[in-house]
Amino acid sequence: MQGSMMQMPLNVSALLQYADRHHGDTEIVSRRVEGGFHRTTWRELHTRTRQLANALTMFGLEPGERVATLAWNGHRHLELYYAVGGSGKVVHTINPRLLPEQIAWMLNHSQARVLFFDTTFLPLVEAIAPHCKALDHLVVMTARAHMPVSAKLPILVCYEEIVDAASTYFEWPELDENSACGICYTSGTTGNPKGVLYSQRATILHAYASALPDALCMSSRDVVLPVVPMFHVNAWGLPYSAALAGAKLVLPGPALDGKSLHELMEYERVTFAAGVPTIWQGLLQYASTQGVRFTTLRRTVIGGSACPPSMIRTFEQEHGVEVIHAWGMTELSPLGAVSRLKARHLGLPKADQQKVLEKQGHAIFGIDMKIVDEQGDELPWDGKAFGELMVRGPWVIEKYFGIDESPLQGGWFPTGDVATIDADGYMQITDRAKDLIKSGGEWISSIELENHAAAHPAVALAAVIGVPHPKWDERPLLLVVKKPGAEASREELLKFFDGKVARFAIPDDVLFTEALPLTATGKVHKLKLREQHRSHLMPL
Ligand code: ADP
Repeated sequence: MQGSMMQMPLNVSALLQYADRHHGDTEIVSRRVEGGFHRTTWRELHTRTRQLANALTMFGLEPGERVATLAWNGHRHLELYYAVGGSGKVVHTINPRLLPEQIAWMLNHSQARVLFFDTTFLPLVEAIAPHCKALDHLVVMTARAHMPVSAKLPILVCYEEIVDAASTYFEWPELDENSACGICYTSGTTGNPKGVLYSQRATILHAYASALPDALCMSSRDVVLPVVPMFHVNAWGLPYSAALAGAKLVLPGPALDGKSLHELMEYERVTFAAGVPTIWQGLLQYASTQGVRFTTLRRTVIGGSACPPSMIRTFEQEHGVEVIHAWGMTELSPLGAVSRLKARHLGLPKADQQKVLEKQGHAIFGIDMKIVDEQGDELPWDGKAFGELMVRGPWVIEKYFGIDESPLQGGWFPTGDVATIDADGYMQITDRAKDLIKSGGEWISSIELENHAAAHPAVALAAVIGVPHPKWDERPLLLVVKKPGAEASREELLKFFDGKVARFAIPDDVLFTEALPLTATGKVHKLKLREQHRSHLMPL
């Protein structure tokens, strides 16, 4: 027996139409690349997006063709998300922090013919354009007055000109909900990057699930600041879930330092912000050295790599800001799990509540999780057994773009993360499989050691890697960036682990460094660190 409900395909254009109709005067504020601020509303943004969708027809794109962006978080990037995806093309967001060769490789792989970019990235575009055979239109995301001149790229199209010249009348087409609206490539630290195509349907379902109260709890009363870039996994879906909730959006442009972010938060009365731990570390350091507070910020979602418990405590105890620790991946659109308290946790002492919040949390509705051993057999949810985390759900990848072989194993996506799951369903990441340290046959979690080290008052950033050892195969090595003006010796830091972890897990050595290498997505570059320090304990 069929249900008797309407068949309405889930299309991303519906989100923008909804935000226009029901939250039309709610603002979208962007820090401009050209300097100053740009203010618009969901209604005006919808009008301009219809103009942009009309303007796109001048490029003669086929349905499903890729349109690439190299851009910061700003209103024009948001217009592109909806104009491209809503009109049946695929927005290919590119991380400008990747190497030019990697960017050219991706553009050649996605075969994008049109590239939209912020003026910041002109030198990058000059370097890659000759190597991207499919590219034939370059659009600079600015007004005529700010158009750059390039001897190497004589034909540059001006974004504002093509938008201004286009009609505001555009009917959003009804698209197959399984057709693609976006593509993002994994960063490809091992091998070539792989393209993840997001469907219209997956994007809408992900927006619904991530907006729920026990997920990101998005509302029309929120002022949302996605610091997480729109060039990486759709800024965790916030450009879509903010429209679904009718929230005000604040887009930080290129200014991601602590001072700029703090000013923006205070000025625009941000209630909810999202970012990776390394960004918040800069912000918290600024707040502590300047003695400033967050007067409107209520909660922040932190993910992308493990959020150190000390960061959760600082946000909560010093600033009254709730931290939502979340786990996700490019292959999951990206949200998979979030850590929020259940009713029965509310009566627990603060320290026990904190233990729950330190985990990566429970699956959000739509995502199924399990952990398996090396044979693929499911492990118990006892909070102790650890194995590879497997997931499935309507916004989890089935196949990478252009690769026939599916990554799935028995219908589940192997995440490459090693985790435990407790009896309440709270998942905790022990490590990426490749970052786990195996010493004398025992596994050591680098994340656990980093979390302890980060709690030391002198430590700004900590990373633990496994380095080859003649007797134990591998031993943990701790690298530390100290807080400005703070002092701590190697011995003091090593002693700090006493009683917190098993003796065999205490790092063999500590190296102090000015900075840690970061990947293009703001995570500590462990592969590079392992290469740099591979002969630290065993001259090779
Ligand atoms: P990449 O960094 O390779 O571009 P993603 O951004 O998709 O890819 O990163 C996904 C990975 O980031 C996860 O598989 C996991 O290892 C790590 N990760 C994400 N969130 C967390 C978290 N809260 N705690 C620990 N690790 C996390």
